[in-house]
Amino acid sequence: MRKRRSIEEYKAGLLASDRVVLSQAITLVESTLEADRTIAASLIQEILPHTGNSIRIGITGVPGVGKSTFIEAFGMLLLEAGKKVAVLAVDPSSQLSKGSILGDKTRMETLASDKRAFIRPSPSGMTLGGVSAKTRESMLLCEAAGFDVILIETVGVGQSETAVKHMVDFFLLLMLAGAGDELQGIKKGIMEMADALVIHKAEGANLEAAKKAKANYQNALHLFKESDKFWNTPVLLASSLAKLGLEEIWKMLLEYQEKMMRSGYWDENRANQRLQWLEDQIQDLLGEAFLRHPKVKDSLAKGKLLIQSGQLYPGVLAKELVRYFLDSGK
Ligand code: GDP
Repeated sequence: MRKRRSIEEYKAGLLASDRVVLSQAITLVESTLEADRTIAASLIQEILPHTGNSIRIGITGVPGVGKSTFIEAFGMLLLEAGKKVAVLAVDPSSQLSKGSILGDKTRMETLASDKRAFIRPSPSGMTLGGVSAKTRESMLLCEAAGFDVILIETVGVGQSETAVKHMVDFFLLLMLAGAGDELQGIKKGIMEMADALVIHKAEGANLEAAKKAKANYQNALHLFKESDKFWNTPVLLASSLAKLGLEEIWKMLLEYQEKMMRSGYWDENRANQRLQWLEDQIQDLLGEAFLRHPKVKDSLAKGKLLIQSGQLYPGVLAKELVRYFLDSGK
């Protein structure tokens, strides 16, 4: 049986930067047990005044682009700069593999073994909504425990980007030279979300191609991204293996933070993200309650066959189910 602590114990442990307590607190917020959820909610409320003091960075790119290698190299650089680094992963694909992108491989070994860093694999067996919702809470727990850079890793192939974009201050897209946009699975939408592009593995024989890709992406961004008076999405070159361009990325992040804080956008963005968080929570809770409702469950199971065979208009069934749900609350 997992030991459940009192809220005061969790809070004291977090504020003392106790990594064991931090891990346990994240397990608590990821739990779907009703009793855990109640404590988790109170705990998050309690620690709120101790959160917000980090730079929250989303990192995305297709598998193989070198995200974990980058996070390891970049994370080590941040530790050397005196920062405390936490790494969280949002990985909806772990539902399928029943493993986690961080858990099933030996990744980020150097970073993981350093006391100033904290690495948390994404929980397996959760829906995308569930994963991203809990990532926000995990991020706040890390902040309360004194981590001042939070790196959130996500696989650059779909919805998880939007979810992560809604919880970070900065969204970094890793790309490869010469792979072609389609090959990389990078959609225009993801490029639009990015606050910076990094052409990764830019070393040795790859360097020339990387420089060309940089020019191409700069042009492409020019064409489809509205110019912003505060920030124009830069394209940078980096190699995590050769340790090139990493300091420039950190400098760029600090410049972004400074500019956005001065313009007021930093706080405004976080305020909007909190509203988005509320919206997500309402949708999650409603969705869960809806699907748990016995009459809804029953009619849904029966109706699905008629929907699949094209005999019934989904709008009719949806309306009926919502009516069952709402009537039961009267
Ligand atoms: P992820 O799937 O995006 O997390 O990618 P990984 O970090 O697992 O890296 C995929 C492969 O790319 C591995 O074989 C790495 O050694 C390699 N790789 C990562 N970073 C670099 C780099 O900077 N240069 C080169 N040449 N290879 C790299």
